[in-house]
Amino acid sequence: MTNQDPIDFEEIEGEIEVTSPETYAGHLVEWATDRHASDLFLSDDQRSVVIAVRVMGRIEIVRRLARDYGNRLQGHFRAIAGANAGDLVHPTEGRAVLATEDGREVDFRLSAIPTLFGQDVSIRLFDSSRSQQGIHGLGLDDAEVEMLKRLLDHPSGLILVSGPVASGKTCTLYSALHYLNDGSRKIHTIEDPVEYAIRGVHQSQVNLRARLDYNDLLTAVLRHSPDVIMIGEIRDASIAATAVRAGSSGQLVLATVHSDSAAQAISIMRQYEANSSFLARTLVGVVNQRLVKRLCPECREEIACGDELIGNERVRQRLAGTPPKLYRAGSGDACFNTGFDSLTCLPELLYVTPEIERAIVEGESAMELERLATEGGMLTLADTAEARILQGVTTPAEICRELDAPQLAHLIARYRDAERSE
Ligand SMILES: [Zn+2]
Repeated sequence: MTNQDPIDFEEIEGEIEVTSPETYAGHLVEWATDRHASDLFLSDDQRSVVIAVRVMGRIEIVRRLARDYGNRLQGHFRAIAGANAGDLVHPTEGRAVLATEDGREVDFRLSAIPTLFGQDVSIRLFDSSRSQQGIHGLGLDDAEVEMLKRLLDHPSGLILVSGPVASGKTCTLYSALHYLNDGSRKIHTIEDPVEYAIRGVHQSQVNLRARLDYNDLLTAVLRHSPDVIMIGEIRDASIAATAVRAGSSGQLVLATVHSDSAAQAISIMRQYEANSSFLARTLVGVVNQRLVKRLCPECREEIACGDELIGNERVRQRLAGTPPKLYRAGSGDACFNTGFDSLTCLPELLYVTPEIERAIVEGESAMELERLATEGGMLTLADTAEARILQGVTTPAEICRELDAPQLAHLIARYRDAERSE
């Protein structure tokens, strides 16, 4: 557990007796979304039901409930999600939209699996009001928002969003869809599963049990004259080939790829798609990203530093004369004393320029593609990380959890010195 206020089990126990599971469920979802939790878990263990949340990427146990009460709560969540509440033998799924008392709508997707002691109920929470802010809600600075718009404004081609697991790729895609969904385009998605509903967008779900896979759906969707198609993850050669084909025939295609860097995403696509020149012509750009914890602006504390902190010229240009500052996490009510208030996107935006197009055709390595991109002004993930630290958005320690960035060593040393001198 973190230093977040735990709800004391002993004190609450009596209240649980009188609060109905229905009311309790509503409060729990509200409590979790207030803290920007992405998941809520209700898991049977030997003697109790453990309630936990995933907040900013990490699990926190909220409390343990008496087994009987906890099972009723699980049953209630299963019922509102439309999952079979009685079948505890088979894995089951469902979804619903829950309105909180303060007027927000939380989309949730529930999955329950039988375990040794009973069941594990896992609920994915989407506070859809957040991604409805579109690309302005991702935590990008103004220059990055403009660059992303430039990519998305292409009428056709392929745009890849890349990163490891849990790097916020889906959130970026959904925000991009909200941006594109202005009524002037016909937008289709092929998802596995659909994360949440977006009004005006035609969303289809892969259903392997009914033998409806990505390629079947994509072929069908292409006949529906879409302007934009969002497909899920490109994970094999046949999806890659279909994505490239769709992008080259007049649609804008958005897809994700599992990779460490933007340049590596291109290498991976080249391994899938044998025709390099076809790929090079179709690919518009790559958004590679990580999610890092954002310092709470209410309580972050400045530590002394100077202009000599900036490591390279690209970062200096990005800061555009704003004096660099270092901050560390503080503690306050706004962030529940955690020092951080949300997750923010750390992007690496690669455009396919004529030089890069040529390099893709010629089969250049990811390292060479990255060199060309940075020569053309791209900030690497480490550059963006450095800029974010010097803008007081996050700390080197948070970056290092997500990224291996030797270029930040001088900043890490500065933090260490500041700690020591106190
Ligand atoms: Zn705070």
